[in-house]
Amino acid sequence: QWIYLNGQFVTKEQATVSVYDHGFLYGDGIFEGIRIYNGNIFKCKAHLNRLYDSAKSIMLEIPLTYEEMEQALVETLRRNEMRDGYIRLIVSRGAGNLGLDPNRCEKASVIIIVEQLAIYSEEAYKNGLKAVSVSTRRNIPDALNPKIKSLNYLNNILVKIQSNLAGAGEAIMLNAQGYVTEGSGDNIFIVKNGVITTPPCYLGALEGITRQAIIEICEKKGLKLKEEPFTLHDVYVADEVFLTGTAAEVIAVREVDGRIIGGGSAGPVTLELLEDFRSIVDQDGLK
Ligand code: PLP
Repeated sequence: QWIYLNGQFVTKEQATVSVYDHGFLYGDGIFEGIRIYNGNIFKCKAHLNRLYDSAKSIMLEIPLTYEEMEQALVETLRRNEMRDGYIRLIVSRGAGNLGLDPNRCEKASVIIIVEQLAIYSEEAYKNGLKAVSVSTRRNIPDALNPKIKSLNYLNNILVKIQSNLAGAGEAIMLNAQGYVTEGSGDNIFIVKNGVITTPPCYLGALEGITRQAIIEICEKKGLKLKEEPFTLHDVYVADEVFLTGTAAEVIAVREVDGRIIGGGSAGPVTLELLEDFRSIVDQDGLK
């Protein structure tokens, strides 16, 4: 396995960063998770747009141009002979000193890791996941904006700990007002009486690229879709609940806080959208 580390290809064992890297010291950095399907870097442009926007927002200068970044991704895949898998692209502030000041960090670190993905079993896609709502609140736009895919994932991790303790596979995060925002690392949708609803991202969710792909599929098919705030009550009484994300694709939630959702397994809209999604994954991207 070859890892791209600041312009070099190194082995897993050699792929180390400084303990003074502010990504490590402070979570000062950003990342992307991208899928490769049949040699196609799915939605590469959307991921790189989000990466460069996140960088601009936190005043992090990525030492590679957009085109150089695309080339680095392609070259990393080529070296690893990877045609199906997952890319983790990380840009951290780089090595500085123990102080917070990013001006002390000379150059951002760019790391590209490609791996096979341990995805959910086909059983899980049919049966759905068990989820719980958690007390940790999603960070809101007037704090660290959730549009920034930053290395600060501590509240998502706290959420994961809570769902683990509850014996659930996933968590549902609310914002401070009690509106549903997203899962620990996935966006959320509900279906009720044929209407598909997902929370607007301004409530406190990442603008997921899978979420956007699902919205576009729904529009294309003429399915009724709304971006509207909703609460846990709406989740409990939904006919279907599903999550979307680069790793998970489209996966049903069968139970939330002990309430069985719909028929207690993946519903027809979820399964249809999963199929539609899988039919486009080798089309829109960088080959
Ligand atoms: N929400 C959070 C907090 C995430 O980390 C992710 C994963 O990247 C998502 C949602 C889903 O986004 P995407 O579909 O771009 O993978």
